[in-house]
Amino acid sequence: MLRLLWNDFVGLIFPRLCLACREPLVTGETHLCTGCRAELPYTDFHLLPPDRNPLGRRFWGKLPVRHALSYLRFVRHGRVQHLLHELKYQGQRDVGTVLGQLYGAELRAAGLAADFDLIVPVPLHPRKLAKRGYNQAAAFAAGLAEGLQLPWHATALRRTANTKTQTKKNRAQRWENVATVFEVENLTDIIGRRVLVVDDVLTTGATLEACGAVLLAAGAAEVSIATIACA
Ligand SMILES: [Zn+2]
Repeated sequence: MLRLLWNDFVGLIFPRLCLACREPLVTGETHLCTGCRAELPYTDFHLLPPDRNPLGRRFWGKLPVRHALSYLRFVRHGRVQHLLHELKYQGQRDVGTVLGQLYGAELRAAGLAADFDLIVPVPLHPRKLAKRGYNQAAAFAAGLAEGLQLPWHATALRRTANTKTQTKKNRAQRWENVATVFEVENLTDIIGRRVLVVDDVLTTGATLEACGAVLLAAGAAEVSIATIACA
């Protein structure tokens, strides 16, 4: 009883907020408000045939991908940008996990769980990992694994060098920047597996392309990619 009163009291002073729009959540809502759940810009790429998926087309001629998936469309200054900002810079690891769980459950309902054996996040450099305290792509991978009911492996891929910031580089420079920096930790984890490699956001796709290429070179049977949002 006292505990309940205390929780109500704390709720009044520090209401739990929607991770996307910052409005207070009401009873029965967790992490995202009903409005945001209904209105987030879902891509629904997983419902399209692979040859009509615009994200898949971006990998044509670069990397053979079975599925190219993104939960949301990146909209600048919108709710999606806010979610990604919370995940990456405000210590809100939950954002990645929750979105992963929701998306994973949707993909599973669409029958896609049967197309993957293992989920692998794009790794952060150890120094960046130490600074942030967690890998935002791994938070998403963990949630996806739960939703899809599949295993995930946080360190299957390793970053070998600290890449400089990507923002001021063109596509070719970005590719050079990432192409040599990933390696597979243990080949036996990867050989013959259909791997779903995941990241928080896809802009040029160079990072995921590099990870996918490394996984295929290591003997992965197939590579698919999934992100929280794509630009
Ligand atoms: Zn909201």
